[in-house]
Parts: sequence; structure tokens; C-alpha cells
Amino acid sequence: MKISPVEQLFTLFNETALMLQEELACSYLEALAETGENLFQGAILQKELSELTVKRLKKQYEEIHLDNFSNEDIRKSFQLVILKGMKDNVQPNHQMTPDSVGMLFGYLVEKFMTQPSFRLLDPAVGTGNLLTTVLNHSQKKVTSVGVEIDDILIKLAYVNANLQGHPIQFFNQDSLESLFIEPVDTVIADLPIGYYPNDTRAADYQLVAAEGHSYSHHLFIEQSVRHTLPGGYLFFLVPNGLFESEQAPQLHEFIKEHLFIQGLLQLPTSMFKSKNSGKSILILQKKGEGVQPPKQALLVNLPSLSNAVEMDKILTKMENWFQENKG
Ligand code: SAM
Repeated sequence: MKISPVEQLFTLFNETALMLQEELACSYLEALAETGENLFQGAILQKELSELTVKRLKKQYEEIHLDNFSNEDIRKSFQLVILKGMKDNVQPNHQMTPDSVGMLFGYLVEKFMTQPSFRLLDPAVGTGNLLTTVLNHSQKKVTSVGVEIDDILIKLAYVNANLQGHPIQFFNQDSLESLFIEPVDTVIADLPIGYYPNDTRAADYQLVAAEGHSYSHHLFIEQSVRHTLPGGYLFFLVPNGLFESEQAPQLHEFIKEHLFIQGLLQLPTSMFKSKNSGKSILILQKKGEGVQPPKQALLVNLPSLSNAVEMDKILTKMENWFQENKG
């Protein structure tokens, strides 16, 4: 039986990560970052391994030539091994963005960003899965920046980017602290949802809560807007209840002052564990001189992605909207 390229890479990542995990006495995800880095550097970088393990690792790496794999093969296989590692260590707000969402972001970014080259920021880059899905779907020249607070996730993102040959600039820090980056044309983010514990820092934001902790997803939106050029687009994965929480009136005000809502695409409930955990893609544009709001915002309830007939209708609706508003 023929093994697919994704399976072939999955097996390599998994087996070599297991070897490293055992000898380095670290987590599976840490071992995965180590093996990815070895593969990228073409060397075994860990000094404390036994001769036998070095020999076994070398043999496995020699069987694989990365040039024979597409970026999407590399991304998908890396995604599968990360998912395996995340199963042992479930952290709801650290979850990787699934493929289905990544594809939609890829489609939208490609449609909205019509210039031949642009700068993109993902301030909650995690494992880099969403960011590299978008990059792999783009025909344009994209310079990108990723920021992430978790040091294991950003290491995975960095290895993921290296293996796919994407020159992404990474920052391992709290995105709500000062960001030392050049302004960008577009932002994408699968936002971390919940309260931001640092009230002192939150006080620097217009979207600080009147009482108690502020919503980190609101602050992330404000921080992203600060770093976007006038006229730039922002794409966020947000909870369906974003505009219904007790802190929503402030968010409405903020949006009215700085942004135009370009679209809101509600994802099918079948993609989520419960109705309450449903999410949407919110598309915003930063106001600026000469920037006009759309005639009508793109409002879509996406059907189950496996429903080809309904999906086709929605895609036609979206294509028509782009022609009327962006053509
Ligand atoms: N798109 C990512 C991917 O494909 O792996 C997943 C994003 S995940 C839903 C949200 C990410 O935000 C997590 O990786 C989490 O560690 C990160 N995060 C949460 N609070 C943060 C903060 N204050 N600064 C930077 N990153 C943060």
C-alpha cells in the first residue's frame, strides 16, 4: 500500500519525537520542536543523547528529503503530531486553529488583500497553523510577524515556519504589552477568549473594563488596530456572543470610532462542541482618509462545510459581494 506524504512525515515526526521525549525526559511537544529543528538544520543538535539514539535518529532523517514535500504536506503532518501532543495536555485557550477555519481565513485574506505585497500580523500565533495556512493560500508576497506568549507554542511555530520555508518574524511576549513592530496592512487572529489578568496594563486601553478584569479578546482587537495602517483589514475568530456581553457597549463604541465592519461570517455549529462555543469570523477595516464603508456588510451564516450544494450558494453570494464592493 502506498503511504501518503502526510502520513510519511507524520510517522517521522512522531517516531523521532518519541525517541527524544524518552531520552531528554521532556514533553512530547518539546520533543517535537527538537526533532523539527534537527530536520531543518540537517543535524542532531541535542548533545546528551546516547550513540544508539543518534544512530537511529540519523537513519530516520536520512530517509526524508523535505524538498520532495509541499508546504501543505508539511503543515498538515505537523498539525497532526501537534494535535496528538495536545491531547495529553489539554488547554482550551491554546488550541490550534483547525484547517476548516484556516482555509476560510486564507480565502478571505486573498480576496481582501488585492495589492501584490503586504505585511501581516498574527498577535496570537500559537503553533503557526493558522498563519501558515493563510501564507500557503496566498499568491502574493507576504511579510509576516507572529507574537505568542507561550514559549513551547512559539517554538513549534518557529520550527513549523522553518520547515515550510516561511521567513516569519516571531516575538515571544505578551501581545498586550508594547509591540515593537512596523505597522501592518492586515491582522489575522484566532483570539484568546477570556479575562486578561494584568489590570495595570489593561488601563492603557480604551477597552479597559469599568470594573474588574478586562476581556483579553477586546484588548487584542484594540492592540491590533493600533498596529494596523489606515485602510488595513483585520480578520478575527470571535465568539458568537461578542456583541452581547456586558462589556459589548464599549466595543461597539470603539468600532464606531475607529473601524468599519466589513463582514461577519458565522461558522456552522457542527464545527463546535456546543452551541455556546460557536464562533464567527469578524472582518474589520481601519478608518482613514478616503476609506469608505462597504455598501453593505457581508453577513453570512455558513452551512456545514460538507454540504456542497449550500456551500456553493454561499460562495456565489460572497463572490457577488466582492464584485459589488471591491470590484
Ligand atoms: N492560531 C493559533 C494556531 O493556529 O495555533 C491558535 C491561537 S489560540 C486560539 C490563542 C493563542 O493566544 C494561544 O496560543 C495563547 O497562548 C495565545 N495568547 C493568549 N494570551 C496571549 C497574550 N496576552 N499574548 C500573546 N499570546 C497570547
